[in-house]
Amino acid sequence: MKAIRRFTVRPVLPEPLRPLCHLARNLRWSWHPETRELFQSVDPEGWRRAGADPVRLLADVSAERLAELASDRRFLRRLTAAVDDLHDYVHGRRWYQEALLPDGAGGAGGAEDGTPGRPAAIAYFSPEFGITAVLPQYSGGLGILAGDHLKAASDLGVPLIGVGLLYRHGYFRQSLSRDGWQQEHYPVLDPNELPLTMLREPDGTPAQVVLALPGGRRLYAAIWQAQVGRVPLLLLDSDVEENGPGEREVTDRLYGGGSEHRLLQEMLLGIGGVRAVRAYCRLAGHPAPEVFHTNEGHAGFLGLERIRELADGGLEFDAALEAVRAGTVFTTHTPVAAGIDRFDRELVARHFGDDGELPGIDPGRVLELGRESYPGGEPGLFNMAVMGLRLAQRANGVSTLHGRVSREMFAGLWPGFDADEVPISSVTNGVHAPTWVAPEVLRLGARQVGAGRTEEALTVGGSQRWAAVANIPDAAIWELRRTLREQLVTEVRERLRASWRQRGAGSAELGWIERVLDPGVLTIGFARRVPSYKRLTLMLRDRDRLTELLLHPERPVQIVVAGKAHPADEGGKRLVQELVRFADDPRVRHRLVFLPDYGMAMAQKLYPGCDVWLNNPLRPLEACGTSGMKAALNGALNLSVRDGWWDEWYEPDFGWSIPTADGAATDDDRRDDLEANALYTLLEQQVAPRFYDRDDTGIPGRWVEMVRRTLTTLGPKVLAGRMVREYVDRLYAPAAYAHRALTPEAARELAAYKARLRAAWPRVSVDHVETGGGAGPSDGRQSDGSGELGATLALRVRVTLGDLTPDDVEVQVVSGRVDGSDRIIDATAVPLKPAAGPDLAAGHRYEGALALDRTGSFGYTVRILPAHRLLAGGAEPGLVALPTETTGEAAGEAPGVLLR
Ligand SMILES: *Cc1c(COP(=O)(O)O)cnc(C)c1O
Repeated sequence: MKAIRRFTVRPVLPEPLRPLCHLARNLRWSWHPETRELFQSVDPEGWRRAGADPVRLLADVSAERLAELASDRRFLRRLTAAVDDLHDYVHGRRWYQEALLPDGAGGAGGAEDGTPGRPAAIAYFSPEFGITAVLPQYSGGLGILAGDHLKAASDLGVPLIGVGLLYRHGYFRQSLSRDGWQQEHYPVLDPNELPLTMLREPDGTPAQVVLALPGGRRLYAAIWQAQVGRVPLLLLDSDVEENGPGEREVTDRLYGGGSEHRLLQEMLLGIGGVRAVRAYCRLAGHPAPEVFHTNEGHAGFLGLERIRELADGGLEFDAALEAVRAGTVFTTHTPVAAGIDRFDRELVARHFGDDGELPGIDPGRVLELGRESYPGGEPGLFNMAVMGLRLAQRANGVSTLHGRVSREMFAGLWPGFDADEVPISSVTNGVHAPTWVAPEVLRLGARQVGAGRTEEALTVGGSQRWAAVANIPDAAIWELRRTLREQLVTEVRERLRASWRQRGAGSAELGWIERVLDPGVLTIGFARRVPSYKRLTLMLRDRDRLTELLLHPERPVQIVVAGKAHPADEGGKRLVQELVRFADDPRVRHRLVFLPDYGMAMAQKLYPGCDVWLNNPLRPLEACGTSGMKAALNGALNLSVRDGWWDEWYEPDFGWSIPTADGAATDDDRRDDLEANALYTLLEQQVAPRFYDRDDTGIPGRWVEMVRRTLTTLGPKVLAGRMVREYVDRLYAPAAYAHRALTPEAARELAAYKARLRAAWPRVSVDHVETGGGAGPSDGRQSDGSGELGATLALRVRVTLGDLTPDDVEVQVVSGRVDGSDRIIDATAVPLKPAAGPDLAAGHRYEGALALDRTGSFGYTVRILPAHRLLAGGAEPGLVALPTETTGEAAGEAPGVLLR
């Protein structure tokens, strides 16, 4: 029978056990092994049944067991210790409160309990959060990264407030049909059974946000709070009675539905999210955020809502835009066009029109923010990443390579600038070690270097804290690797059996599963979402060769594969099926396994048990990638195309680089062939031989040395703690500083300045450039266009500034090596000084010296950039004046003068 109504009966714990609820509601248990062990000891069998979920465990324990525990002095002592530990963790001073800022990032004002200059609070918006398997609100890397960001911020004491949506069905659960086709399930998540608390007004009514929709409809949402250590995470939930049936569905699932659905989700996340933050700060007495960080473009509307707030306070749109930009950080996560949200302009216009949201704001201005105003841009589309860049003074990619790729990708928004000057920096992602490092690895670390130091090493980072790992004996490392591999084998067999049952097999058919995987065989892992650029099936390119590797008589390999395809991605599902069918083949099924339903719970078992973590994306489409980092922290070696983080930190000691045909003029098919070939060859000739090269005690010395080097040298780099510290120092603190500087008067001044710039710029020009006698060892420059190293050229420049004055701009000489087509590379820019001249009417004169400090082909040019103390940099407004063809003629020289 189906119940007509459902409600949750909350357990009433005996008084002495009440603190268990408190421990269960703070998700710190998910990365604190001692608290998890405490829950487990409440009822080991119930813990397993509850899927290691404390809230479910407590709902399920018998009254007798509770009574027993309530008088168990040893248990109560452990409980008190755990509660005290959490209290200290939440209220103590941590890195953020102690450490100093790098020069220049400080400022007036500042955090109430932090170092002066640091933001009092930062709001961090993301469409998904992967905190723990028991709160399944993520689809993949983006969400897990957001979860790791929150946890690392908590460990460091960074006053972050997370903001997201609560999806009633999360993403989806994956299983397989008999013939290997992906099946999707959408279990209902009842927030009352999740580690969430509803945010309430002082009178007990639920706090809500409401958005106006076209046609007089309204979208209401409740605000759920998850506590992630010290960091609150606010999740908006549209499944409330006040909503009509359509509006209730807005937060139904992650990345589902058509574009109107997505737009509503993103409006709720961005606009509703800011309103939720305001409600939270009011109700919790929390300082208001000085910085808003949007993790990918989906939450970009948050900037519009903050403009609306300021506009309601009397600030004009342009000034409000400047104030909002100063305190906004935008992180872009993908160079794949399909990963960027683009909406129909009309759809956006309808939702921000007169009867929609933000009625005080001109919809034309809104549309302008998302316009693809560059060559090749689609005039009919509204691009969330483009809006993100226009609404944030600071933007970044997520690895050094991805920063470069993003600068090229968005260079059209800064016409006239070389890609390397596009103001998009990068902060390489990291992973939260306490979440991803297996308890066995932590225990070995604690034995060797002490528990306190291990925790510090994992959360704060710093390579000196990791050095002690170098002293761990080979035998201990190898023993650990073996243990982890064995555990994985057990886990894989269990999951595989469950999957085959699900696919309709009876137990009698499944005896072979007992022989799946071998704890002594080189184990390779490959798990990730299945967009085409990640090439799930590259390993199948030459099936005979792969089979030979799997079945090699002396040096076999075994492979564990997992991955979900997006429900609407038929191509991705075909790839999954191809892989599953191969894995079903009785000849290889003991050596290659596909596990359905990749998620955090599986990932936490999978990374530690693999000897090698494989990644073969189409370079450079993997913005960063983080699974390889998690594997490395457990002592796995990486085998990967040099993309994302691996491009940056690859060293022969940490694993192997699969040669890529990126950049070579080949078609995709040929490229796959080349790269698959390289992969097989590496496995056959380098990876397997090293793994099986044993000394008399059975230890592969060179392999273990690589594991050790991976832990000591790579380990400290890949930490989320390192990443969050970089965000604080390089982005949050400067953004808070800029935000404070933009008082309403300053914001008006900056807006007026930019308006003046835009109006005047068409008449700004470099009119004349001449080089005079050098002050170098000789006369410096000879008539044949050559110069001597060490010489200095005197530059004289005449420019027209139209309605601007020399205070509004900087005139620079930009010089460096030139390539075959006269492009300056590795350019350095040096400002020229205004020179008072007799003929001011003819333009402004500038002077300066150009040092010939490099041999070889060398060139320079002169340019004019906006300059204002409130700009983050000269490229910010996207305006530049360069010499034209006629400048050179007037000067009797080529426009950018080349000296060879
Ligand atoms: C880390 C992680 C990812 C992201 O891995 P990539 O290497 O970035 O593809 C995806 N899903 C889960 C469950 C993860 O733990």
